[in-house]
Amino acid sequence: MPASVDEHAALIRSLVVLPTSTETVPLAEALGRVTAAAVTSSVDLPLFRNSQMDGYAVRAADLPGTLPVVAEIAARPGEPMPLRPGTAVKIMTGAPLPDGADAVVPVEDVTRDGGTVTIAHPRTAGEFVRERGSDLRVGDALLPAGRLLASRHLAALAAAGLTTVPVRGRVRVGVITTGAELVAEVTRVGEIYDSNAVALTAAIAATGAVVSVVARVADDAHAMRSALDAAIAISDVVVTSGGISMGDHEVVRDVLEPLGASVTTIAMQPGGPQATAVVSGVPVVCFPGNPVSTQLSFEVFLAPILREHAGLPAAVRARRALVAEVKSVPGKRQFLRGRAVGANQAEIVSGASSHLVAGLAAADLLVDIPAEITSLTKGTIVETWAL
Ligand code: AMP
Ligand code: MG
Repeated sequence: MPASVDEHAALIRSLVVLPTSTETVPLAEALGRVTAAAVTSSVDLPLFRNSQMDGYAVRAADLPGTLPVVAEIAARPGEPMPLRPGTAVKIMTGAPLPDGADAVVPVEDVTRDGGTVTIAHPRTAGEFVRERGSDLRVGDALLPAGRLLASRHLAALAAAGLTTVPVRGRVRVGVITTGAELVAEVTRVGEIYDSNAVALTAAIAATGAVVSVVARVADDAHAMRSALDAAIAISDVVVTSGGISMGDHEVVRDVLEPLGASVTTIAMQPGGPQATAVVSGVPVVCFPGNPVSTQLSFEVFLAPILREHAGLPAAVRARRALVAEVKSVPGKRQFLRGRAVGANQAEIVSGASSHLVAGLAAADLLVDIPAEITSLTKGTIVETWAL
């Protein structure tokens, strides 16, 4: 009996042991990273008591009444003179409130006449005043550990005067694609473009890891061995595509089997042929070369581990109803390419074959069909994985 998807996933999880590290990065490079530790504020926010409006700083006790306007305070550096009782000071939004003032009256609520301002109604102390520390106090947690940094988090860090943030270190993933048919520029029959290198590079980046190297080798054992050694030296895990099935030029199998690799076929479609190895202590995860197989294998076996390690959320899974009948092969768990229809339905958008790279590009989810199911009627509820 071939191994199930879950069994193979568990095997890969046991082999792919990733190092954890922390680095401190400038805010400009921190978008999409995940905090490695809680960040505590060393300042109050707002930093100082200031005006919430363009208007007049006053003592509420002096109102209602007509007050002389004795000064003007703009939002610019410098400590203002204290407010004398029975006077008003013109003030702009964000400007420091003078000592002695306890309220701001918005400019639209006053009558200005030369050097005086008339405020017809009483005011309460604190109105339109932003108190120092009313947003956050010194020593308060600005962000917890494990926060995926978006612009609003970076803004709060910047407002508190921080220029760097401690984040989880990225793991390094090496990519090796194999096949004598892979070329940079197709000029004759038999040649194809290397789409797996592009797919894996982007998919790895999307999981918060860094691509340490992208190598492409023809079906040549020496080239494969040197690419492997080079990748292993600078990677926490290496991913390969192609060269592990039953053909005559299976370069990954040929190089890795003598190093103790396990090359198997699992009950999955696409993505039946799979292999794993540990070379010089570095896990090597080998996917079949068909573009859909490579991409789905990454999504099923490696992406969850990398996302989890990086602190990123797992891919969204949702139950949806099929809009039409679907057939599936017996004995293999199928991942069909689908699209969301409305909030809770799914349609199949591509054939099941593993070379349909454009078909996969047309999909926005995978429809996960258990191995024992061969036929699903319209309306059947299926598990879907967001892409
Ligand atoms: P393999 O797993 O090496 O037997 O390859 C299976 C199929 O995937 C063949 O049709 C290959 O040409 C194709 N293939 C292998 N590697 C790639 C790649 N990097 N990019 C696009 N197609 C590939
Ligand atoms: Mg090949």
